[in-house]
Amino acid sequence: AEERCHVLTIPFDALKNYFKRFPLLSYRLARALAEKVTKMDRRLLQAEEDRDTLYAIVGHKDREADVSYQSHTATRFFRQNEQKIRRLAEDGGPVLITGESGVGKYQLGRLVFRNSPSLNRIFLYVNFYNPDTLRPEGGGSPQSEEEILFGRASGGTYQPGLIELARGGTLLIMGLDRLSAGTQERLLGLIDGRTAAESPSGARAKPPLRLLFGAREDLKTLQARGGVVPDLARLLAERTLSIPPLRDRKKDLPALIDFYVRKYSAELGRAPALVPEETLKVLLDHSWPGNEGELAETLKRGLVLAGRGVLQPEDIHLDFKRIEDRGKIDLLKRPLVYRALKSPSFPAALQWTAAPFFFLLTLLLLFGPSDPERNIGSVYTWALGWPMLVIGSFLWARFWCAVCPMGTTGALAKRIQSLDLPVPHVFKKYSTWFIMLMAITVIWLEMVTEMRQHPFRIGLLLAAVLGGSVAFSLLFERQAWCSYICGLGGMMGFFAKVSPLELRADRNVCLSRCTGHECYTGQGDHPGCPYFQLAPALESNQNCKLCLTCLKNCSHRAVNLFLRPPGKELWELRQGSPV
Ligand code: SF4
Ligand code: SF4
Ligand code: SF4
Repeated sequence: AEERCHVLTIPFDALKNYFKRFPLLSYRLARALAEKVTKMDRRLLQAEEDRDTLYAIVGHKDREADVSYQSHTATRFFRQNEQKIRRLAEDGGPVLITGESGVGKYQLGRLVFRNSPSLNRIFLYVNFYNPDTLRPEGGGSPQSEEEILFGRASGGTYQPGLIELARGGTLLIMGLDRLSAGTQERLLGLIDGRTAAESPSGARAKPPLRLLFGAREDLKTLQARGGVVPDLARLLAERTLSIPPLRDRKKDLPALIDFYVRKYSAELGRAPALVPEETLKVLLDHSWPGNEGELAETLKRGLVLAGRGVLQPEDIHLDFKRIEDRGKIDLLKRPLVYRALKSPSFPAALQWTAAPFFFLLTLLLLFGPSDPERNIGSVYTWALGWPMLVIGSFLWARFWCAVCPMGTTGALAKRIQSLDLPVPHVFKKYSTWFIMLMAITVIWLEMVTEMRQHPFRIGLLLAAVLGGSVAFSLLFERQAWCSYICGLGGMMGFFAKVSPLELRADRNVCLSRCTGHECYTGQGDHPGCPYFQLAPALESNQNCKLCLTCLKNCSHRAVNLFLRPPGKELWELRQGSPV
């Protein structure tokens, strides 16, 4: 708190004379000053106490909430290194944790922290590998390493550094090799007590403070390329924990999978999902270049998709880290297009236009003239409707399904009443077979019943598809009929692969910023993707009807609607991977 004060300048000799002449003045001044000092001292003490209380609360909450370190305790790596980890944790000295990106250096740091008998008041973490985390709150350019670690004073304000804030606790500095030699020397001085961490405020960080360091390369490599100063390297030589990449310790996978399945199931408010053998096999066969971080993300995404109870192989989407916008134009970058497609009237207005037209057509087919040339419904169906569906799929992918009155009626029925049962696994697993079977049945029926000559039979077929869509909507979650059964939609999905339109999510954004996967789960009253799609997992137009529900649900602006060279998807499939 600030206090107004007045300054009176009196030469020292003159002041001494005053005191001699007026002794009471000297007494009063001394008392006033003593009172001020005592008051300030009390304030400082109070501030210290407040800070200690806050640390206790923050540290306690932190320890209660954080279970990330537990991922290590069940692994063989931990069992084999348990003694060393505990010894290093207990002696309070610095520790270097090395390993590739994503192996779990942070988690091991927390494990060391949690096993420190003292120095466990607070855990702070800074990552010099990631410049984004070094920006001050509210934006601006990244702070220098000195400012971050040792504090900054400017314009009369003071911002304490992490060293000062972490006193009595543990500070994990990820990216040791990114620190300058000067900063490393300063930290070394802090460790061996040569220097205290003087802050620009004049305050001193009171040791003890435990420093943990993280690096992506082992100590020898760091030394060889000058990534660590020699004295610090010597100190850390016997105090290093190296975590091997996940591909070299696949025996740890079952324990890690179990840990993350439990963790994320709990976060989703569900009982731990079962992981059948075939899913485990998919996970064990992967080489996990992104290590534990990739495993955790993959399982988290899989569990969001898994619905209730079982994590199936088709819920696992691997190799997610690809940028996919080369040679494509994102139509959503045009503000007009973006606003139009994000509007609640899209695609509702088109659906409401198409529905009456469809029902009129079906009535005409069912109850109109039996002569196909005189039945307007029949003429429209074969001369315009059918060719438009096929040619349209080449042009605007499966967009017809977004306005299709059969699908829309199913969705409407669901809003009124639905059991919302999970879709039986057999439909998901063999959906391609169901769709093919249905498409072949339709073509076969068309031939054997000479449908073209009998408008009534076409009407019956449309009514049957409508019935299927409504029945599945009443029984199952989302639009199960359209996703797994409808042959018409399946056919359009097949042709849609050559369409110049595609909807894809920016996986970099999804991986780095998304925690809720709202494109799939939905937001509040807005349901998620009706076709069971997680936008970043989309690699083909086949299962997306371009309804743009995901665009409305995604708050990270990760959904893109690309204009691409026609046939690009087929080319990508031929290459064996999307680019
Ligand atoms: S999948 Fe079939 S029923 Fe569903 S919207 Fe598409 S065409 Fe209509
Ligand atoms: S598209 Fe949006 S909501 Fe979906 S995963 Fe990506 S960021 Fe999350
Ligand atoms: S991925 Fe998006 S656009 Fe495609 S069907 Fe799902 S919600 Fe609609």
